[in-house]
Amino acid sequence: MSLTVLMNAGPWLSVPPPGYGGIENVVATLVPELRRLGVRVVLASVETSTLPVDERISVFPDGQFHALQRPYNQVCGVAQAHLHGVVRALRARDDIDLVHDHVEAVGLATMAAMGRDAPPALHTLHWDLAKHPELYGNLDGGGRVRVSGVSASQLARAPRALQEHSVGHVHLSTPLAVGADRRPRVAKGEHVVILGRINPGKGQDLGARLARRVGFPLVLAGPVGPYHRPEDLAAAGDEARQNPDVRFFYEHVAPHVDGDLVRWVGTVAGAERDDLVAGARASLFPLRWEEPGGTAVVESLALGTPVVATARGCLPELIEHGRTGLLTADEEELGDLVLAAGLLDEDECRREAATRFTPEVMAQRYVELYQQVRRLAARSLQLA
Ligand code: UDP
Repeated sequence: MSLTVLMNAGPWLSVPPPGYGGIENVVATLVPELRRLGVRVVLASVETSTLPVDERISVFPDGQFHALQRPYNQVCGVAQAHLHGVVRALRARDDIDLVHDHVEAVGLATMAAMGRDAPPALHTLHWDLAKHPELYGNLDGGGRVRVSGVSASQLARAPRALQEHSVGHVHLSTPLAVGADRRPRVAKGEHVVILGRINPGKGQDLGARLARRVGFPLVLAGPVGPYHRPEDLAAAGDEARQNPDVRFFYEHVAPHVDGDLVRWVGTVAGAERDDLVAGARASLFPLRWEEPGGTAVVESLALGTPVVATARGCLPELIEHGRTGLLTADEEELGDLVLAAGLLDEDECRREAATRFTPEVMAQRYVELYQQVRRLAARSLQLA
């Protein structure tokens, strides 16, 4: 297939990301598979990105994530400068068949603002679509710009105008799913894990309370705001409390963290993360928001660990209740489900991941969407 895609990963972090970086991880997972399928990829990112691609575009020498701590009037030029670089590149060449954009709000608005001679664009919505109602509720992609979601439930709750631009959803994937059904089992421990940013929507406070009530060991892994290690948070002192996730941690989670039954270990990465999840009796997602995509959910399946979760957001699409996990609408029931999760067959979880959540499955689906977006754009040009 001869298709050249400009993959716009944005200016915030390098690809792959040095640590936590949801969107950059998706791009790092997707691009190698697209290239295996014969797609040429031009990556728009920052200079420190090391992902092998066919060509690169960058405006900034390195990731600008740190700038997001600054006030709006000092930071609003960052994403704009990056997008301006992308627009200049698109004007200077005619070999880009499609832009696959991942930059929240400004990527979509910029693509939509380009003229009819610009390439078609697919903008993937990685986030909660209740955000940006004025943009999403009035979107006009001019027939050239379409959106995709990361789950059906995410798109089902989107404003009508956004839904009208949608070509569907592509579930998130994980490299851990490749061959997951053939990987040997590892010994399970007693612990339960909650893997994710510590934040009210992810519900670590509820998980920690249930752990103490029901009596299961719980490991909380993930950053609190910008702090990745307990000692960094402690060293930051009271100033850290300006961050709402830090306040949430101190007020609602930390009172349950006793360092024994309930532990916060900070961000875990690489083999340490995989061992922690693979050795857990269950991964718990005590969600208080409509989880849009759930990378940690599919990673847990790939590592052979059943998922116990509130039946919110994408969870019912990713998890089959009674086979790969246990779901409930009742928060208080989650504790009992954690105890029951040991009865589920971990091989079912691995098989599910190896079938549905590999990077190859994700890339094939995106290629279908690229073709669909190009067909729709060509048709709208003919009608114009
Ligand atoms: N993660 C990690 N270490 C941690 C906590 C989380 O590597 O200590 C990773 C996790 O494995 C997943 C990502 O961060 O790949 C979180 O993505 P998810 O879609 O679950 O949540 P988001 O933060 O994007 O809402």
